[in-house]
Amino acid sequence: MEDKTLVCQDCGAEFVFTAGEQEFYKEKGFDNEPKRCKDCRDRKKNERRQVRTDR
Ligand SMILES: [Zn+2]
Repeated sequence: MEDKTLVCQDCGAEFVFTAGEQEFYKEKGFDNEPKRCKDCRDRKKNERRQVRTDR
């Protein structure tokens, strides 16, 4: 497997979907490739965490 360069849906930045990550996705049974770069994923994660804290 080779590293893939994908374009982030949110910010349009290119990011690398590494062979290791592809392996991980396959192991988990995920069909989809990631749609967002790591920055945007982290941001989403943080937003979600904040929502949870508000409760
Ligand atoms: Zn992004």
